[in-house]
Amino acid sequence: MKFGLLRQGQLIDRKEIASKSTLGLISQFPELEMTINKLLSDNRITKSEVLGIGISFPGLVDSVANRILSTNQKYNDASDTNLVDWALNIWNWPLFAMNDARMALLGEWQYGTGKGCSDLIMVTLGTGIGTAVLTGGELLIGKHFQAGNLGGHFVVNHKGKVCTCGNIGCVEAEASTWSLPLLLREHPAFAESSIKNEDTLDFKTLFHYVKNNDLVAKDVLEHCLSAWAAGIITMIHAFDPEMIILSGGIMKSSSVILPVLQEKVNRLAWTPWGKVKLVEARFPDSAALYGADYLVRSTLNP
Ligand SMILES: [Zn+2]
Repeated sequence: MKFGLLRQGQLIDRKEIASKSTLGLISQFPELEMTINKLLSDNRITKSEVLGIGISFPGLVDSVANRILSTNQKYNDASDTNLVDWALNIWNWPLFAMNDARMALLGEWQYGTGKGCSDLIMVTLGTGIGTAVLTGGELLIGKHFQAGNLGGHFVVNHKGKVCTCGNIGCVEAEASTWSLPLLLREHPAFAESSIKNEDTLDFKTLFHYVKNNDLVAKDVLEHCLSAWAAGIITMIHAFDPEMIILSGGIMKSSSVILPVLQEKVNRLAWTPWGKVKLVEARFPDSAALYGADYLVRSTLNP
């Protein structure tokens, strides 16, 4: 969990605590409060000087009522909480909540790689795959706050793997950190690869084995790149962006990933006007903090 103290788009200070997302959110409120209060006291800021608080959450979020609507494997009790009342009771601050990919998109759009661009898509490749869409300079929200957020659950293989969302062959069921161990173990030559001896089957391990020419790792990476490209191309066909910003833990290996995805998009997407640019996030680690700063200020002082 990342915490930032921002002033007019400048990140003044930040703190991090372990996410412990399987423990839920409610039991962690005391630690959240302590961390936020420490951020204030370390910077000699009183609570009355703070304009408001923005919360970026990995799930579906009602950004009008500022409530968590639906979760998927992380902080599963969050939809039972009233975050607005919590922030009012503790600090007397207005609170604004938003889906994490949307919040990161806001940050990159206002202060990062997407500056000046009015049609862009954010894709975060990590444990799961998060997406958000800006179209004509407006965040795409939809009737039930989920438009543009479910790009990780676009079907890229209708005979593929069962996803955590209940669907079959979603992008993240075919290529994400949670599905990677399954992909590797299912490979017919898994037992012959020394990757089977690794305790952690994550993308860091996978890229290490790819570098050493391991055939299983190379096959699985090729499968993931194809799944990501298929998802991104579907998003391009659906939302007609100028630019796609890629972020998330897996993008630590962007030098391998980006050129392959750009080549596939150039070759396979139907965009007669030109090519959609795939770019790295400027703030891979803090875009949502910048987004929260923009959200709070633009909502309170439109
Ligand atoms: Zn899914």
